[in-house]
Amino acid sequence: MTTATRVWVRFEGVGRDFVAKQWPIPNHSNSFTPPPPDARALYVAAKKSFAINRPGDRRPLQLPFSYAKTWGLDEDAYTDVVFARASKKYCLRFIFNVEHTLKSMEFDTFKTYVRLVKDAKFHSDYLEGRKGLPVPVHYGIWVMNTGDWGGTVMFSLTQYCGISWNELRSTKFNTEANRINVGRAYEKLHDVGIVHGDFKSTREFRHAIVDLFAPGLTEKDALNGKAPCYLVGFSEASANHSCTPRLPILPLDSCPSLHEVGCAELCSVFFLLDFAKPPLENSLMSRALEWHTEYSKRYPQVENRYVLAAQRKRFYPQFLPLDPSLHVSVPNVDDPYSRVLITRDIHEDDARQDDVLSSGLQRVAISGIDSLPAEYRAALAKHKSLGPQFVVAF
Ligand SMILES: [Zn+2]
Repeated sequence: MTTATRVWVRFEGVGRDFVAKQWPIPNHSNSFTPPPPDARALYVAAKKSFAINRPGDRRPLQLPFSYAKTWGLDEDAYTDVVFARASKKYCLRFIFNVEHTLKSMEFDTFKTYVRLVKDAKFHSDYLEGRKGLPVPVHYGIWVMNTGDWGGTVMFSLTQYCGISWNELRSTKFNTEANRINVGRAYEKLHDVGIVHGDFKSTREFRHAIVDLFAPGLTEKDALNGKAPCYLVGFSEASANHSCTPRLPILPLDSCPSLHEVGCAELCSVFFLLDFAKPPLENSLMSRALEWHTEYSKRYPQVENRYVLAAQRKRFYPQFLPLDPSLHVSVPNVDDPYSRVLITRDIHEDDARQDDVLSSGLQRVAISGIDSLPAEYRAALAKHKSLGPQFVVAF
């Protein structure tokens, strides 16, 4: 198969085509995917195709082509990378007026160029040809002379991936399914030891691109998280990232700590996708609270510390009790509000005797066990530690 070593770029209405040649990044392997034959003639429409992520919220701002003529010439002006959708399938990201904008490493335009090149290098070193990664295909960096249109122009040529999540999250496409889809893209990256590295606030979701125009995708699919999601902008990325995620990046009914999530970047993604929640109505915590309220109401004579001990046993049995000398039994597990039996052995010389007797527990002799209700007798029979006397809350 022949591959393109030159591509022609036409901007609608500009009146001339520009010829671009692939630029070999100095001292680099340049192992990019060769552009397919249909990338030989790239067409950029005048409307809704040429944009920059504006300062502040970094959402795309559509530009006229005339912006190319002055980009980077005013050193105080905003000089983020300008990008274009070409021939529907490709994305071009530009550095204009290279004769001037790359003159000094101090220029912001030079820093934009460095990011473009670092991203390209990371693609060729770690991402190109790896199946299953949520990243666009990268076809390398290209250079063309456009005369007085935009001077010498350098651009990266990649697969077009769609609309950024930074943009979509304020639309009807901000569904839970799509947020899971975005989170999954970051999880996939971390799963192979890559950290994106440029993720500090929601505006960095400009790097997460959702392809709402994917072939065969219906609007319903797009709302239900079926659109492919890609990550772009790897200038700060690193490979060989080691992390140990402990939770999926999914909506949870609680608010995990960084330690519980297990990775700083995934933790940021988790929180900025709004997956952390105060406990939902039916969360374990809310059920435990509800139980506490109702149990206290039904058995007002039982002191709160025993209600808490019973609550702990019923809802969080995996955790150590506060007082290991208390034995807590749930006589009837099918009835959520069956009275919980709490016992503690006592001995005549038990220094805590007065203490426990004054705290609402009743003193019972083992010989008096038959006087207790049947369900308690069954529960007590399992207590091997019962001494001749014990205290009980019921
Ligand atoms: Zn990680």
